[in-house]
Amino acid sequence: MIELDGSVGEGGGQILRTGLALAMCTGQPLRIHSIRAKRPKPGLMRQHLSCVQAAQAISSAVVSGAELGSSSLQFEPGAVRAGDYRFAVGSAGSCTLVLQTVLPALMRANAPSRIELSGGTHNPMAPPFHFIERCFAPLLKRMGVGLALQLRRHGFYPAGGGEAVATITPAEHGLQPFDLLHRGALREVYAECLVPGLPRGVATRELSTLGEAMGWSNDQLRTPAVRQDEGPGNALMATLAYEQVTELVTAFGEKNRSAESVAAAAVAELRVFQAGSGAVGPHLADQLALPLALAVHDSGRTAAYSFTELTEHARTNFEVIEAFLPVRCETQGADGAWRVTISPH
Ligand code: ATP
Repeated sequence: MIELDGSVGEGGGQILRTGLALAMCTGQPLRIHSIRAKRPKPGLMRQHLSCVQAAQAISSAVVSGAELGSSSLQFEPGAVRAGDYRFAVGSAGSCTLVLQTVLPALMRANAPSRIELSGGTHNPMAPPFHFIERCFAPLLKRMGVGLALQLRRHGFYPAGGGEAVATITPAEHGLQPFDLLHRGALREVYAECLVPGLPRGVATRELSTLGEAMGWSNDQLRTPAVRQDEGPGNALMATLAYEQVTELVTAFGEKNRSAESVAAAAVAELRVFQAGSGAVGPHLADQLALPLALAVHDSGRTAAYSFTELTEHARTNFEVIEAFLPVRCETQGADGAWRVTISPH
């Protein structure tokens, strides 16, 4: 039984999701207490409960404590079964965080899986659908895993109603670790503004503010077609495609926040990333750790990546990974960037 304290480090839902994913990958039962103790509303919220239920469905786990508001949980996974699943987050809760929970186990299963997800596809504090598709999936591909994604409907907080389909094809010859220490040459940069159910002027203002600040031309500022009934919602996304990696910066609009301030938030984050030398930004840094650690474990080979910022999220993920897997995640700062080396232990 692996025991986790949900109040350590970041003290949020990530400890739970990483714990569930690794319990399924290793077959070790998990007991976690003080779930999300550092959040204003601690315990299991609907979104986290959806992650537990999805994990239970794919691994026939025996679970206790899976109730709204619960601050502790026991999860004893059975065998992981590939297959067709449908998971609905009964609110605008993030679909992609449910995917993040079940993906590691399903990408090591003995057959492909197809997962239909409904809920929020573009939520603050979660990877937006486009981030998973453009930034995360290509890195999994380098490990040999196929992750094909289809966005059927956008889902924004608070209305939700988004729909996405993920097809996961496990690596044919086992997970392959790789090093990611440099971004490579910059190939393309562009921004897109999603404004379903909102006046188009919001997109124009956000894109022109961002374009002016970054010196981007009109053909780099785009407003993709989105059905009006998929909102209201607003996400301003900036994509930076390098040879080795693609990063996506997202700023979300909300009531009483001006278009200019949404753009300013995206610009600030873009500038930090552009000025840094780490291969990936803070979000990929915490999300890449788990699949790469599994690849290191399965292959017995070391891997490393560099990143711009060592967040509490990433640090906490490294610790949970070390609690489950016989690997070591060693971080070191160098030349204005961070590097983590994951090695078999
Ligand atoms: P909670 O306790 O409320 O569930 P949490 O601790 O689980 O919160 P969040 O801050 O909500 O954590 O982040 C969850 C995941 O979403 C992390 O892997 C983080 O990197 C990712 N994430 C958050 N914002 C973005 C973003 N803009 N782009 C990509 N990934 C993001």
